[in-house]
Parts: sequence; structure tokens; C-alpha cells
Amino acid sequence: MLRSAILAAARSNRVERLVETAPVSRNIVRRFIAGEQADEALQRTRELAADGLAVTIDYLGEDTTNPHQAEATRDEYLKLLDALHAAELTPAAEVSLKLSALGQVFDEKVALEHARAICAKASEAGTTVTLDAEDHTTTDSTLDVLAQLRAEFPTTGAVVQSYLRRTEADCRELAVEGSRVRLCKGAYKEPESVAYQTRLDVDKSYVRCLNVLMSGGGYPMIATHDPRLVAIGEDRAKWFDRSPDEFEFQMLYGVRPDEQLRLARAGYTVRVYLPYGTQWYAYMMRRLAERPANLGFLARALRSRG
Ligand SMILES: Cc1cc2nc3c(=O)[nH]c(=O)nc-3n(C[C@H](O)[C@H](O)[C@H](O)COP(=O)(O)OP(=O)(O)OC[C@H]3O[C@@H](n4cnc5c(N)ncnc54)[C@H](O)[C@@H]3O)c2cc1C
Repeated sequence: MLRSAILAAARSNRVERLVETAPVSRNIVRRFIAGEQADEALQRTRELAADGLAVTIDYLGEDTTNPHQAEATRDEYLKLLDALHAAELTPAAEVSLKLSALGQVFDEKVALEHARAICAKASEAGTTVTLDAEDHTTTDSTLDVLAQLRAEFPTTGAVVQSYLRRTEADCRELAVEGSRVRLCKGAYKEPESVAYQTRLDVDKSYVRCLNVLMSGGGYPMIATHDPRLVAIGEDRAKWFDRSPDEFEFQMLYGVRPDEQLRLARAGYTVRVYLPYGTQWYAYMMRRLAERPANLGFLARALRSRG
């Protein structure tokens, strides 16, 4: 119930204005986001890399409805990749991108062209790109764009969400040689017709998908903070005889940082998802929906605005 209400607020312009201008917002945002500018993302990347962590950087923004904004997002990624390369932070850092920020909502071909330019730049910079998964209405289009990008840039990463009923079948398709696949639970509000609704069903699906990916030919990226699923990931690696360079764990910046370091020190590759940019509202609200303990922030933000 609470999670649904917060995820609905994530799409409300009115709540967005209230939260963005509330004085308490800045502190909590700082915990989950590198900063508003690329140089702050670069600095955080340097620090994480010095701690032995890999990084995937996300330039915040989604659901772009105008072509100029889509072009501006593409250009920001191109500049970011040049800067990462110049700072010798590739290949430890790759980028994650949302096709909806590149115009998928109004023209899939435009989004594909922009994504292609970003993949080409990433390849020049010696790194790669992962396409984030968004709400279920975009899944077919995103997997279709992924297939086209992979024809030229085979290391382009996919993301699948275990809350979707279709995902186990998608994992079977994606678990092939060279295929990088991030498995997460899923962060959007989805109807029962397409998505499991209980935590238990989502977790059971996660384990089934994990089994498919770990037993297949691809490179699984286990994205979760859930201690039980991390332990199952470690167990499956042993079971399927995968060495630490044949899969990785991924976690979000600011979430369970001690666990990130513990896993890295145990010899695993751990990649931190590091967002930056001014459009942090929707991302932030999805993090709050996952962790009701953080809700005091939202209540204070709304109360302080009346
Ligand atoms: C690297 C990465 C990339 C992602 N990319 C996408 C994407 O492209 N598309 C998408 O829809 N979603 C994405 N997500 C979000 C994902 O779908 C989930 O919404 C999010 O990760 C929360 O699920 P969880 O697996 O961490 O478990 P949850 O069910 O949220 O939490 C399970 C347990 O983990 C522990 N835990 C969780 N958070 C904390 C915390 N802050 N402190 C301490 N313990 C905690 C607690 O024990 C909790 O009970 C991504 C997540 C990660 C980590």
C-alpha cells in the first residue's frame, strides 16, 4: 500500500515541486546521488575505484518528451565517457542509461540512434553500456533496441526484473555466451496481470532467474541488497563452478556500503550504481519506496511546505 502510494507520488508533478524545494531534501539526496555535475560523479568514481569497487554511472533523467532534451542527454553521456577515459577510469567504470531519457517515449528509432552513438563512444573509451529496465510497457521495445545494439556492440548489458512474470523466459533467451545481464527485483508500480505482487513471489522468481543466468553462458550481474539473495548468489557461483571473474554483484550508491566493501574484499567484483544530475526526484522516490525507514524524510519535506 505504502510502496504504491510513494511510487504514484514519484509521477506527481505537484509532490515533485514540494520535495525538490524542501530544505531537508538536499541531505538525503546526497546520500544516494553523487552530485548534480559530472565532475562530482568522476570524483565519487575515483573514490569508489580506490576502494576496489567497479562503477556504473547513470545520468539522471527519464520519460523525455522532447527531442532537444533527448539530444542533450546523449551529449552529456558522450562528454562523460570522454572524461572517464581521460581520467583513466575505464574500464572500471561503465555507464547505465534509460532509453526513455533518449526519446523512447516518442520515437524508438531516435532513442536507438542516440544509444548507438553512446555505445560507440563507450567502446572507443574502452568500456561499455547497460540499458536500464523501466516500466513494463517499455520492456519489448528495450529488448528490441538491445538486440540491435548488440549486433554492433556485443557487450551492451541487459537488465531484467524478477517481479515481471515474463522474466524467467527472457533470462533463457539472454543467458548466452558473452551476454551481460543485470538481474534486479524491479522498482516500478506494476499491475498484477504482468507482475508478481508479493515479496515472496518476487524473491522466488529472482532465484529461478538467477539459476537460469548462473547455469547459462552469459555474464550475470546480481543486483540486490537482499542478504538472502546475495548468499544464494554466492552459493550458485560455487554450485555452477563460476570463478569471481565470471559474474558480479551490483548495489546502489549509498545502500549497504559496508556490504559492498565486504564482498569486494572477499574477492568478488562489486559494481556500484552511481547516479548524478539535477533530475533526481523520480529516482529518489523509488529508493524511498524500497525503504520505509527513510519515509520520515518525505513526511518532513511535505510538512515543512504545508
Ligand atoms: C545496481 C542496481 C541496478 C538497478 N537497476 C534497475 C533497473 O534498471 N530497473 C529497475 O526497475 N530497478 C533497478 N534496480 C532496483 C531494483 O529493482 C530494486 O528496486 C532495488 O534494488 C531494491 O531491491 P533489493 O533487491 O535490494 O531488495 P529489497 O526487497 O528492497 O530489500 C531486501 C532486503 O535487503 C536489505 N536492504 C535493502 N535496502 C537496505 C538498506 N538501505 N540498508 C540495509 N539493508 C537493506 C534488507 O535486509 C531488506 O529486507 C537496480 C538495483 C541495483 C542494486
